[in-house]
Amino acid sequence: MNIAIIGSGIAGLSAAYDLTKAGHKVVIFDGAAEVGGLASGFKVESWDWTLERFYHHWFASDQHVLKLARELNCSDQIIFRRPDTMMYHLGNFYPLDSPISALRFPGLGWGINKLRFGITTLYLRSTRDWHNLEKISAADWMKRWAGTNVYRTMWEPLLKAKFGRYSDDIPMSWLWARIHTRTAQLGTFEGGFQIFLNLLSDKVRQQGGEILLNQTVKSITTVSDSKLILEVNDTEHIFEQCIATCSPRQLVQITPGIPKDYAVKLKNLQSIGALVLVLALKKRLTNHYWFNLPATAGFPFLALVEHTNFVSPSHFGGEHIVYCGQYLETNHRNFSMQAEEVANQFLPALTRFNPDFDVSWINQSWVFRSPYAQPVPSINLSRKIPGLQTPIKGLWLASMSQVYPWDRGTNFAIELGRRVARNLLNL
Ligand SMILES: Cc1cc2nc3c(=O)[nH]c(=O)nc-3n(C[C@H](O)[C@H](O)[C@H](O)COP(=O)(O)OP(=O)(O)OC[C@H]3O[C@@H](n4cnc5c(N)ncnc54)[C@H](O)[C@@H]3O)c2cc1C
Repeated sequence: MNIAIIGSGIAGLSAAYDLTKAGHKVVIFDGAAEVGGLASGFKVESWDWTLERFYHHWFASDQHVLKLARELNCSDQIIFRRPDTMMYHLGNFYPLDSPISALRFPGLGWGINKLRFGITTLYLRSTRDWHNLEKISAADWMKRWAGTNVYRTMWEPLLKAKFGRYSDDIPMSWLWARIHTRTAQLGTFEGGFQIFLNLLSDKVRQQGGEILLNQTVKSITTVSDSKLILEVNDTEHIFEQCIATCSPRQLVQITPGIPKDYAVKLKNLQSIGALVLVLALKKRLTNHYWFNLPATAGFPFLALVEHTNFVSPSHFGGEHIVYCGQYLETNHRNFSMQAEEVANQFLPALTRFNPDFDVSWINQSWVFRSPYAQPVPSINLSRKIPGLQTPIKGLWLASMSQVYPWDRGTNFAIELGRRVARNLLNL
């Protein structure tokens, strides 16, 4: 078969890996200048390692990543460590990444709150049945079983930071999935995620696949019952099958012939964008890896991640890498802020992590943003998620919005990419 894939993110590359292995002709188109999509990295001359544009790590439970790495013979390049996570409470930061640290966390007080937090967390880690949990919001479930105090202290800040105005309606199945699968052991790849993505794309090419970068697909149309035309940089390419890994809304925009009811279904899948300020500092800012920050405490971003407390600064020419990350709706004025405005808004908060911080510590900085960064799940989503096969013959959609009940991530993008390839091969 002659197959097009829109997107060289990890889902598109994983699909291409299996399809080329099965002997099919695959062409990947990506509008970006390099492979990797949201998980891609960049590098300046003085660094040995690449750095993800958006902070990334794996969990020890990321089975699809580990399996793919075994197939690519690069498992020995995955590094697992146990960097720490901190939580803010009344002006201070406390560790919160183990049962013991949860017991010590002052935000929960003593007695009943700790007990309810512990019991609900244990229940969610052990139960496998998420189907009933998608019928109720995380806010309602947590208030009922863990109590309003625990909800307000532990879970509301996370939901608000991630989903903003949607936070009260996020299904409990989404929170279950995070608590159920995530581990304190976090992983990365030697040289950064981009090196893993390069290995995967090299394999796709060795197996006969083509990867065309700086090639944005403008439209998908049907010529006859069994052929699709992709318009790319004013050239038309004809394929029998096409897998789109872009957002559902983008698929609607570029596919004029898409049936109206299906287009409505895709447009109803909400998502939000992300904006990240990356700093390369002369000095270490903190002694910790990850800080969860409640918006109610006046932080202009939701997470501060000091990457070089996970990966040695020696890989970055001795520079200390700090991410300040924020999820935003794309029509929020801050989403389109110029880099200077982002710095003006974010940098004053850094003295709350280290009172000695001064802008003279900054060697370099970058701002990255993506309009489609985090799908927003809704109640009973399993009944609304479109299947991978679209109503247009030969056209498939494999987007982050179809990852459920799990939170999107590279592990599930690999699973999705391989699943769409399997379904296509089984036609
Ligand atoms: C802030 C942030 C933090 C994250 N942290 C983690 C983490 O710690 N661990 C983890 O595993 N995951 C993390 N993720 C999620 C992870 O990056 C994604 O789940 C995964 O990379 C999605 O892969 P994908 O292939 O589905 O999509 P994408 O990576 O979005 O790839 C889609 C590709 O399609 C291309 N494209 C779109 N439209 C077109 C078009 N019309 N023509 C041509 N090309 C097109 C894009 O350029 C892009 O390269 C994070 C994401 C964000 C935003």
